[in-house]
Amino acid sequence: MALDRHAEEGRKRKIRTATPSTVRKVNRSILLHVIRTHQPVSRADISEKTGIFRSNVSEIVDELIEEGLINERRARPSGRGRVPIHLSLNDDGLYVIGVSMRSGQTSVAWAGLTGKIRRELHFVTPSTPEEFVNQLAAAVGEMQPSDAAYSPVAFRECAISVPGLIRADQGSVVWIPSRPAFSGFPLARRVQDVLGMPVAVDNDCNRAALAEMWFSDDQVGGLNNFVFLEIGEIGVGAGIVLNRSLYQGHDSTFAAEFGHMVVDPAGPQCECGRRGCWETLVCDRASWRRYSQEPFGEGSADTLVQAARSGSVEAIRALEQTADYLSLGISNIVFALNPELVIVAGKIASAWDLIGERVQSAHGSSKIRMHVRPARLPVTEMFLHGSILRALSTVFEKPKLGW
Ligand SMILES: [Zn+2]
Repeated sequence: MALDRHAEEGRKRKIRTATPSTVRKVNRSILLHVIRTHQPVSRADISEKTGIFRSNVSEIVDELIEEGLINERRARPSGRGRVPIHLSLNDDGLYVIGVSMRSGQTSVAWAGLTGKIRRELHFVTPSTPEEFVNQLAAAVGEMQPSDAAYSPVAFRECAISVPGLIRADQGSVVWIPSRPAFSGFPLARRVQDVLGMPVAVDNDCNRAALAEMWFSDDQVGGLNNFVFLEIGEIGVGAGIVLNRSLYQGHDSTFAAEFGHMVVDPAGPQCECGRRGCWETLVCDRASWRRYSQEPFGEGSADTLVQAARSGSVEAIRALEQTADYLSLGISNIVFALNPELVIVAGKIASAWDLIGERVQSAHGSSKIRMHVRPARLPVTEMFLHGSILRALSTVFEKPKLGW
């Protein structure tokens, strides 16, 4: 019976297989990836690095030059032999808008094909989605050159990251804890109507994971299977990358809600209705409460880290307890997923020199290999870069095959 059902589902869904045109798209994506990570690079080098025939490389390179995505430049002659022609990404080949919505403020950035930010603007995040769409449209309008001598810039893609649950395939909001009025709002469609370009909306930690993967590509092998964690003020966000793809759950609504793993059934009450969820023990507010009776607020996390650096025994003890809880949760994640790396972002990452070793070892086991490191950039920058890279992914991503 189960087999019949699967066959039925198979008929309903469109099965996508590799045709000559998809193979070409895959090769095109591989080529762009090699040019991005090795530029300036010659056609011969690309062929050698990828194993794609030289003639096929040249055909695709000609196509990319024609589309304005890459530039070619003759290298400086050095001695005998042919002077190679070097290829590199053309930053003017594609302009995109990346948006990071936070509970306090929203950042809007314009970037070119290399992902480098050309201009950045901010506005206070409004409480209603309609006002958010208006302010975002105004900010994108402001990105345009005001001088009439310059023609308007054509932005081609937009990606928005939000601190909450998103139905990623539809771009609609499920739930943003700090903005309840956004629930059910078709954010991607409404922004698309106003801006007139394709818009993608996703969870911010998923985007940050994408950014870590992109930045890691300059290392040998890059990152392929890893977990990104944001230890926030009152919660924990996460993104899982498996085989270089984001894992978003079966209905692309949510996954990786590690913050709600119960690690102490007698622990503090959590917003999800249960007790002792991991986030109630490792978030910045929990660390602060172990240190001070004063109310937790903006700047508290920094104050705690500074106090620990100045030698406050109470502050050091509070952070050590956080490190122990971090170690406990991360070891559970590592046992479940066996990732090559767990990346920790947030204010706590700035205290890594104080707690890193303890996080690595407190709940380690001889049965698992637990590699943990802090994020490369402050978390707000990770979110913005992640959105830019998502907007660029239409060019860089391989076509999806299979189911
Ligand atoms: Zn919970």
